[in-house]
Amino acid sequence: MGDLDRNTESDGYRPPDPIGLPPIFAWPVRPIKSVKWLLVEFLFPWGFIFVGLAIVSWNFLTPEIESSGPPSLSFMGIIWLKNCLLLTILSGSLHWWLYSRAGQGTKFKFSRRWLSRTSSRFLWHNQVYDNVFWSLVSGVTVWSLFEAITLWAWVSGIIPKASWSVDTGYLIALTCVFFFASSSHFYLIHRVLHWKPLYRSVHELHHRNVNTGPWTGISMHPVEHLLFFSMFFVWWLVPAHPSVIILTGFFKGLGPAVTHSGFDKVLVRERRISAGDWFHDLHHRHFETNYGNIEAPFDWVMNTWHNGTDEAQRSMVARRRLQSSSSDGQSS
Ligand SMILES: [Zn+2]
Ligand SMILES: [Zn+2]
Repeated sequence: MGDLDRNTESDGYRPPDPIGLPPIFAWPVRPIKSVKWLLVEFLFPWGFIFVGLAIVSWNFLTPEIESSGPPSLSFMGIIWLKNCLLLTILSGSLHWWLYSRAGQGTKFKFSRRWLSRTSSRFLWHNQVYDNVFWSLVSGVTVWSLFEAITLWAWVSGIIPKASWSVDTGYLIALTCVFFFASSSHFYLIHRVLHWKPLYRSVHELHHRNVNTGPWTGISMHPVEHLLFFSMFFVWWLVPAHPSVIILTGFFKGLGPAVTHSGFDKVLVRERRISAGDWFHDLHHRHFETNYGNIEAPFDWVMNTWHNGTDEAQRSMVARRRLQSSSSDGQSS
């Protein structure tokens, strides 16, 4: 059976293999498989695109930063405009190809359903308008504010600096470690957001999207944006370069447009480009599982790892039953 035939009757596409731990966590160590996974499966193509874009952004798209006073409104405005345009280009083109044009139909689509145009859960009863609103008005604003003040603090010498000409090895290592640190940071804040009071008042807004699309990526409550983009403040303690600071915004602000696309692969002229994140899609379906990402496998340790198989589904249901019966027992 080919990949494209794996759309199940009841729902959509299922990747052929159960989600396992990446080879970088294997013991004994598997160096060749680990490097191959890192370069081909993890970083290609999006990680490389974001790194390239961060270098271009620092050298050509970031305005002159005045270090004599506080960051100016026009500087912050240009950063907002740049991020707004980049997110609109990425989410907009993915949405156009996958949903408006339905360029590949339901091939590689995780859910058979399309995005909602009627549900009262969403602003204007339209999932896409709702997602665009929260992403651009709140998401890009918090992201750009944190990026602008961190860049300004770097230029002003308030935070520690590293330079590509002197600290080349350090910055290459930092860029690699950054992806894992960022995913670990995501796991931690995500667990906090699932604390019931915070879930109900904040995180529920992102989870209204059980079925996700590219614009769902950073469609979040403003408080969630503050936590989500707080990764920028790591650079107030750890020496970095502006290209790494800008990469933080691209990985966290643009990356989710790809991982929430709702499609495992994007097909362009029969070429397959990796896109959606089945692991995180399972979190949107089942809520109390897969809080993190596979590259920061806290879920594996905490027994909340859902590998996408029927067996994992059954054990998740059994675990939930056990939890609800024990909490019933405590309350009675
Ligand atoms: Zn999500
Ligand atoms: Zn969640």
